[in-house]
Amino acid sequence: MSNLNIYDFVKDLYPICRSITGDGTYDTLKKIKKFIPLKLKKIKSGEKVFDWTVPKEWNVKDAFIADEDGNKIIDFKENNLHLVSYSEPIDKNVSYEELIKHLHYLKDNPNWIPYRTSYYNKDWGFCLSYNQFKKLKKTSYHVKIDTSLSDGYLRYGELYIKGKSEKEILFSTYICHPSMCNDNLSGVSVLTKLAKSIGEMDLNYSYRFLFIPETIGSISWLAKNENKLEKIIGGIVVTCCGDRGKLNYKKSRIGNGLVDYFMSFTDINCKEFAPMGSDERQFCSQGINLPIGCLTRTAYGEYDEYHTSADDLNFVQENYLNHTYIFLKNFISDIDSKSKDFLNLSEKKFKVQKKYTKAEVNLGEKGLYTNIGGVAGLKGKNNHIKAIKWLMNYSDGNYNLGNISMMSKTNLKYLNDVALDLTEIGLLKKLGESND
Ligand code: ZN
Repeated sequence: MSNLNIYDFVKDLYPICRSITGDGTYDTLKKIKKFIPLKLKKIKSGEKVFDWTVPKEWNVKDAFIADEDGNKIIDFKENNLHLVSYSEPIDKNVSYEELIKHLHYLKDNPNWIPYRTSYYNKDWGFCLSYNQFKKLKKTSYHVKIDTSLSDGYLRYGELYIKGKSEKEILFSTYICHPSMCNDNLSGVSVLTKLAKSIGEMDLNYSYRFLFIPETIGSISWLAKNENKLEKIIGGIVVTCCGDRGKLNYKKSRIGNGLVDYFMSFTDINCKEFAPMGSDERQFCSQGINLPIGCLTRTAYGEYDEYHTSADDLNFVQENYLNHTYIFLKNFISDIDSKSKDFLNLSEKKFKVQKKYTKAEVNLGEKGLYTNIGGVAGLKGKNNHIKAIKWLMNYSDGNYNLGNISMMSKTNLKYLNDVALDLTEIGLLKKLGESND
């Protein structure tokens, strides 16, 4: 397997025209396979996957708009963002009025070309900069889109790295965007490098890497692998991870899965789940509800260059790509070696004994305050008081130890030890064991 430079790989993939299907996506998978033993998989066009249907395969030979003299004024060969993805074939002369119904541009950033798709509506269109748009004369134009939409395959790549346990952690990213770097060649390059390096590690858990077309790819994978889902103890969708912004983690829908838990102890920003965004939407959809979150630097949609030609090779930088990669590599070492406590303890629930269910318990009277009141800080013995306060407040039957550990940023094992002590002296009882 070849050596991988995280930025050079982005550069190598950048010119390729990708979509949710087609040759560019296949070529991208084959390039990833040069670095890791990726299995290339395919699903036939027309196949039903939950409420969706695998689309026809789309390929592009050529696409341009030419003026009356035959000069190409917008040319797919100059930038593949010029063509709306999944545009239907067309070859005809159109009036200015007809043409502009099919054009997309950005007035606010007049030099940038937007990225647009029309996967499921039969349509055609071009994207151009506003400056190019303004130069169009009110005459007629020759529009040629030499594309094919035919029965073929949706392709994706999968790598399973077996550890000692069958419990697995899933990493996923998408391979369906044409020439843009942060969204999402950054995700492709970082996960390829990550898969390569952890493939050489001695692992407790098993790891699965998916390189899939966004939305339809994750829905297809879920539909085909329902029997594997119960083994997944956590996961991360990785995307938009090569820009200068700080790392951001969007929690899974359940909010207290293994990855959510470990992320809450890092210094990166953690946000709550929402059913918008990337493939975490599918992994966390109703009825699937896997503990899978999403890691980005600046999140999709939150930077101006998002889904435009300005998301280019200057927008991502090698040091940011590497920073994300190293963060994830360290994160895996942590999770792989330290998650036993989480898996054993996080679901445990305690409940305050009946006589203490209202108002704060008088800890001083019970000899649990070892310091004089008013002493600030929560170091040393005060950590003990902090743990007691969190446990007494949140042990109402709704919160488990994992929740309380995440909220209080207190070590789970320590919290469990304190909870057991409080149980022994009659302040708490363990739920699920006695007559609760
Ligand atoms: Zn995108």
